[in-house]
Amino acid sequence: MEKLIILIAAFILVSCSLHSIKTNKQVKTPRDGKAINSKLTVVYSSKYLIKFGGLEKLHPFDIRKYKKIYKKLVSEKLLNQSDVFVPEIISEDDILRVQSRSFLQSLKKSRDVAVYLEAYFMRFFPSFVLRKSIINPFKYATGGTLLSSRLALKYGVSINISGGYHHAMPDRGEGFCLFADIPIAIKKLQAENKINRALIIDLDIHQGNGTAVCLQDDETTFTFSMHQGNIYPIPKEKSDLDIELESGMNDAEYFKILQENLPELIKVSNPDIVYIVGGCDTLKGDPLASLNMTEQGIVQRDWLVIEECLRQNIPVVMTLAGGYSKNAWHVQYSSIKNIIEQIKNI
Ligand SMILES: [Zn+2]
Repeated sequence: MEKLIILIAAFILVSCSLHSIKTNKQVKTPRDGKAINSKLTVVYSSKYLIKFGGLEKLHPFDIRKYKKIYKKLVSEKLLNQSDVFVPEIISEDDILRVQSRSFLQSLKKSRDVAVYLEAYFMRFFPSFVLRKSIINPFKYATGGTLLSSRLALKYGVSINISGGYHHAMPDRGEGFCLFADIPIAIKKLQAENKINRALIIDLDIHQGNGTAVCLQDDETTFTFSMHQGNIYPIPKEKSDLDIELESGMNDAEYFKILQENLPELIKVSNPDIVYIVGGCDTLKGDPLASLNMTEQGIVQRDWLVIEECLRQNIPVVMTLAGGYSKNAWHVQYSSIKNIIEQIKNI
């Protein structure tokens, strides 16, 4: 049995290495890209990709969606490879501003990581395999949200083609989230005196319970979550403002609630930066939720928030979060395409 596990681990490592050799080097090494226009930047790294010898396909979350979105943006000539800003890995010191040392220690245990990621087949794998193939990609994604934050402050709008891990708790991972990328980025920018106040607009269909707990005693951040009431997480945590949505809600009903709340949210929180947790599991047919939004509705939803931030001159970061239907990657590709096209026309 032990030999078999070592053999499978070796296979996974070799397949990861072969894959990274094939991956385009241009988006592998940390570097500056180019703003698409004076306002918009895109952050991505080929190191975001979780590759687990094919076993990653057993998980409902399509972790390959980041790569699919990036490739489609490039092939449709919406994005040049040289435009992309490529992040550094996040440091443990930065993670420790929000999450505990005991949590970081627990990442050395395959059994704990398997629970955090709801991928129980992982509990049999050696921790060095998990670190390379799973934990480091999450650390790069968190570095991506931090880099997007810096770029948003400089240019106005930044999209991290990943991030939005809003279930990560101070003392553990949860719901396929390890690192609390947005709270970590906020705390880092505050420590550098780049920002004072931040607003998180969480539009994923699941409540941003981790974000709420990570920032619960923080007067400088405002956490807003708009989510379906009768699904995970149960019980919910307390954000600064929670709005529970009914099953079956369509685009028009959704927009009405978001439009009613958005101006007041910005006014009350008075943010130096806004984060969007842009999960597309609000889509009709998502296997983990039951809203009835269309692809076009989600595209409009994301733009509604970005347009308001642009209008009020507030830097805004877009992260992708969840989405579990087969088409999820395409919905988020369409949303990023729309953002690029809209901003090009401003
Ligand atoms: Zn979700």
